[in-house]
Amino acid sequence: MNGPISLKRGYRTGALPLGNSFAGLPPTFFTRLMPTPLPAPYLVGASASAAQLIGLAPGEFATREFIETFTGNRTPENAVPVAAVYSGHQFGVWAGQLGDGRAILLGEVPDCSDSGNIWQELQLKGAGLTPYSRMGDGRAVLRSSIREFLCSEAMHGLGIPTSRALCVTGSDQYVMRETPETAAVLTRMAPTFVRFGSFEHWFYNDKMEELRALADYVIDRFYPILRTADNPYQALLQEVTQRSAHLMAHWQSVGFMHGVMNTDNMSILGLTLDYGPFGFMEAFDPQHICNHTDRQGRYSYRMQPQMAEWNCYALGQALLPLIGSVEATRAALEPFQAHYLARLDILLHAKLGLVSTQPSDQLLFDAMFGLMEANHVDFTLFFRLLCDLQLDGDGQAASLRDLFIDRAAFDAWATQYRSRLRQENSSDLQRRLAMQTVNPKYVLRNYLAQVAIEKAQNKDFSEVAKLLAILEKPFDEQPEHAAYAELPPDWASQLEVSCSS
Ligand code: AMP
Ligand code: MG
Repeated sequence: MNGPISLKRGYRTGALPLGNSFAGLPPTFFTRLMPTPLPAPYLVGASASAAQLIGLAPGEFATREFIETFTGNRTPENAVPVAAVYSGHQFGVWAGQLGDGRAILLGEVPDCSDSGNIWQELQLKGAGLTPYSRMGDGRAVLRSSIREFLCSEAMHGLGIPTSRALCVTGSDQYVMRETPETAAVLTRMAPTFVRFGSFEHWFYNDKMEELRALADYVIDRFYPILRTADNPYQALLQEVTQRSAHLMAHWQSVGFMHGVMNTDNMSILGLTLDYGPFGFMEAFDPQHICNHTDRQGRYSYRMQPQMAEWNCYALGQALLPLIGSVEATRAALEPFQAHYLARLDILLHAKLGLVSTQPSDQLLFDAMFGLMEANHVDFTLFFRLLCDLQLDGDGQAASLRDLFIDRAAFDAWATQYRSRLRQENSSDLQRRLAMQTVNPKYVLRNYLAQVAIEKAQNKDFSEVAKLLAILEKPFDEQPEHAAYAELPPDWASQLEVSCSS
């Protein structure tokens, strides 16, 4: 589908064709305001592939205008910057009004890629106080900005729906967290940053006109096909439920843990959104909690699909007045589990290089995860090394087998797996090539991010650039970077990630 605006490429930063359709919503949806400048900003990292999406000219990263603009120090003439209001359930509890406490929407630009999106909104995260900052300072620290930058682009590299990251800029201005840290601004992009909590906001404030205006805006702009449905609001809930279920299958399949799946962090487009204390599973433990602050494990790995479903119900509650009946609302939500399981099944078959399905496959998967858990096997390494397993001869399986303490148990499972592969006349070579396109060699392990952050805190940004380059192609062998695919060092187990950002 073509956008309404003719697509050009090679924009200078100041000439980006910025619109702001979100600012066309009623004024109660947002506050117009300017970003607060930061002193002497410098470029920490930038993604050329994200820049390409919006047709930014190559070479812009090196300009002062780019750095100043994406720190919020200089605002393009045609920009109508706003901060949006939303609410949400946090850790299962109604939290009331939240909103863009530190993110400022600069506007939207046409998407020049074949991504299927028509626009990309540009948001400056960490650009200063807004009326929704509550107790916060409106800032983001370099540490969390680098983590969000790298993980957004890494998830995109993995083929998982996500907001994108254009760049991070830093400043020597201090901000207070547990210790003093320096401030940074992350420029992120998504067709929209509307969240489940954006709908809950109007529902819980009993503002039905605003609720309808938001739903109509989202449908017309992002789901126009749903206009023809008998009940477009029900169709919207159905579609978002399906996308969220599919997103969970993708997260689980690469061991991604979000850490703070509150309804204000759930994208109405089914994108991974608001990277905070996320992590990738290392030693497999379904109970693993990546967010140090989440004592109860509400958002542990194994709980993620259920929590996404819970969030969809919260969205359903908010859309109920528009949908019109509890039955129709329930009907839209009900298929969540089926969507999730169906997509997960496809992904697991692909991860194991199976091209057919058999009813007993689930037993094979369960046994595999059980063994991975019992042996604390590294999630990413297991699946990547599994690509090399051969039907005959154990030569290629040695390093895979070495991941297990109980080698005999692994051998027994491998025998079952091989016999399953033989049933479909699997070829070692074809299977390996196919499996390597779905089992990443490189993921953003916490310790890798930490190394890049510590260097960046000393003004050496080379590791940020290097990690970005590696994670953009997570399925490629990249033998020169093999060290980045190894087990984490011992010190990595001491790393704690919390909501502090
Ligand atoms: P998060 O858990 O990062 O998704 O944030 C939850 C809410 O707190 C959102 O409304 C954020 O905008 C807000 N928030 C988080 N950190 C800050 C900060 N440093 N200053 C202002 N608001 C913040
Ligand atoms: Mg958030």
